[in-house]
Amino acid sequence: MTKEIDQNIKEKIESSERILIASHVRPDADAAGSLLGLGLALKQAGKQVQMVLEDGADKFQYLPEYDLIRQSAQAKVDMVVVVDCSDPTRVGHVLDDYGRPDLVVDHHKTNLDFGTYNVVEPEQAATAAILFDHLPDWGLSYSPEVANCLLSGIVGDTIGFRTSNVNSDLLRKAASLMDLGADLAEIYREELVMKPFTAVRYWGSGLSRLEHEDGLVWTSLTLADREKIEYAGNDDADLVNVLSSVKEAEIALIFVEQPQNEVKVSWRANPGLDVSGIAFEFGGGGHAAAAGADISGTLSEVKKRVIIETKKLLEHQKATKG
Ligand code: AMP
Ligand code: MN
Ligand code: MN
Repeated sequence: MTKEIDQNIKEKIESSERILIASHVRPDADAAGSLLGLGLALKQAGKQVQMVLEDGADKFQYLPEYDLIRQSAQAKVDMVVVVDCSDPTRVGHVLDDYGRPDLVVDHHKTNLDFGTYNVVEPEQAATAAILFDHLPDWGLSYSPEVANCLLSGIVGDTIGFRTSNVNSDLLRKAASLMDLGADLAEIYREELVMKPFTAVRYWGSGLSRLEHEDGLVWTSLTLADREKIEYAGNDDADLVNVLSSVKEAEIALIFVEQPQNEVKVSWRANPGLDVSGIAFEFGGGGHAAAAGADISGTLSEVKKRVIIETKKLLEHQKATKG
């Protein structure tokens, strides 16, 4: 039986002609795949859909119809949806003129329930997996394009089914998405294997200053690195995944310098540890194994504060685990 909230969402979709979907700044594959997957399903149902990522979708050119994604919203809409985002500030300025979202679909345990309807399922490995479950309840169907987008989100957030939250249920969803037309090998190659030359050179800058102490492995990427190498993004080009493959790293950290005295911090933790709380305390959020925050201050100040606190956290969590 369809739950009441799903019925309400279905009715809201049915009565809405123009729908705006947004997701977080520095989008990852779950943000872009969930946004496009839901957007294409709504388009198929005859809706006028605006899909917006403030930082654009250049990294996701392998996703079907990625060029429909815009960097700002225009005109009035009847319904606002936010996907893969735990708090409204992470959307950037996209929602400034639109008020409270009608629907939030997310899997962060730090989600603030900031929508009228909140489909927040922290046990799910990706927002795309939540959408896979709910699209039929909302009167929407899967095309091969929708399936490709949703599987991309799942592959992205699980780093190719490698995270400890991957279970048989998720693999069955992935198998169903393949049956619906998603191309796993192609998604894997585009999303996880192939990297632009500039991104790998950018990794080099970070790797050249890699540090290791007391179970923590970290490095930083500076604005000067990006300028010198001509790396176009404002993210870490997924270098944090390389750091978390270092055997000595119980927690891996990366500090990415941003304009206007801000630093983007990413934490990655081994199974059994939880870095979502520390990220939340620094004004961010995330999951037990992967979390992030945007912190004000210079690179060296932020690094110092975060490393001290993360060391304390690691010590405490190891002590209480016995
Ligand atoms: P990242 O370190 O950016 O790859 O993100 C790891 C996880 O933490 C993802 O699920 C993000 O959505 C979440 N996250 C990252 N930065 C923030 C932030 N500033 N606020 C809330 N959640 C965040
Ligand atoms: Mn995300
Ligand atoms: Mn996600």
